[in-house]
Amino acid sequence: TLLGSSSSVLLHRRTLFRIRSTNDIRQLDQLITQKYLNLPQPSNKILATYIWIDGTGEQLRSKTKTMSKVPDNVEELSWWMFDGSSTDQAVGENSDVYLKPAAIFKDPFILGADNKLVLCETYDANKKPTKTNSRADCKKTMELIADQKPLFGLEQEYTLLDRDGWPFGWPKNAFPSPQGPYYCGVGACQAYARDIVEAHYRACLYSGLDLSGTNAEVMASQWEYQIGPTEGIAASDQLWISRYILQRIGEEYGVQVSFDPKPMECGDWNGAGCHANFSVENMRKPGGIKEIRKAIEKLSHRQEIHIKYYDPSQGLDNTRRLTGKHETASYKSFTSATASRNVSIRIPRQVDEEQCGYFEDRRPAANCDPYAVTNILVKTVCLDSSD
Ligand code: ADP
Ligand code: MN
Ligand code: MN
Ligand code: MN
Ligand code: MN
Repeated sequence: TLLGSSSSVLLHRRTLFRIRSTNDIRQLDQLITQKYLNLPQPSNKILATYIWIDGTGEQLRSKTKTMSKVPDNVEELSWWMFDGSSTDQAVGENSDVYLKPAAIFKDPFILGADNKLVLCETYDANKKPTKTNSRADCKKTMELIADQKPLFGLEQEYTLLDRDGWPFGWPKNAFPSPQGPYYCGVGACQAYARDIVEAHYRACLYSGLDLSGTNAEVMASQWEYQIGPTEGIAASDQLWISRYILQRIGEEYGVQVSFDPKPMECGDWNGAGCHANFSVENMRKPGGIKEIRKAIEKLSHRQEIHIKYYDPSQGLDNTRRLTGKHETASYKSFTSATASRNVSIRIPRQVDEEQCGYFEDRRPAANCDPYAVTNILVKTVCLDSSD
């Protein structure tokens, strides 16, 4: 029977978990939902959805509360709390974890009033940043070099999965045609679920993010968008909120969004990265290529350390992706070149021609924490850090 042994119960529960999703509830009549959402929201009430990174360092959580005034800035928002024992951020006996509002964006989901998304940092009982609050240290670093005007452009790749965990739109128990037609692909068998991409693009712009572009990626049902160039901590704040918005849109369509750096390990399929493009003012000035080359020289001595910061499992996730194949360089060695996609650091051709601009670090995984990535980049390149 179904309940024959504890392992089959577990298996069954996991199956249930994977198959039941919001999309099953889509059989609920959307016209009925709309009837209630059409009710006017009282003018003295707004919804603030507090968002934070949980104990995985990778997944987001959120909860919502009513506020009596539209906040003009993040300082007007009060700290809040959540049950950290349910998010792997505290133990049951001492479970309250603090949410400290860090950045504020327009809510693109509940319309009709000036509702907000609030990105938060997490603090433990002693008001120390939790293990997965890497924003606190990143912010300090960015403040130290604020006068150098650091810019980041983050290329977020992701894969759409069906509710059963198989890539969205792929034939079941089979593979689509080999890679080739999908990158920037156009057509019913080349581009999968463009609706989601376009909904996400618009929602991000509405929310106030510097979303600067999008393209279909090399693997079928894999996509990319870019945040930036954006200054300092804001680039990473925006990337996290853009991920949140994407996950919420995925909920509505019943499509899973995966940031796994290598969703299809067997076969000839590209992984998913989050290339980090970086410059400071000196690099963008005429002759800035000299500064770029200095930066690359510094980075060449710190391969192992950087790899630790480029995925949420201290480099383990990237061992699946940075194989030296599929437009990557091996995680084991540092390489750089102009216009090559098989290196750790690429100098874009245009930068080489103009002799100034920025460089691209191709190593961060799609599920990286951008606070960790941009922090270590600045520490190595601008602060000559040895940690
Ligand atoms: P590719 O796919 O060829 O690597 P993309 O167009 O996807 O290139 O990404 C390039 C990124 O570089 C963009 O996100 C852009 O914001 C960023 N970028 C452009 N100029 C700078 C700069 N001066 N400093 C940092 N990032 C930059
Ligand atoms: Mn409760
Ligand atoms: Mn790109
Ligand atoms: Mn790409
Ligand atoms: Mn790139």
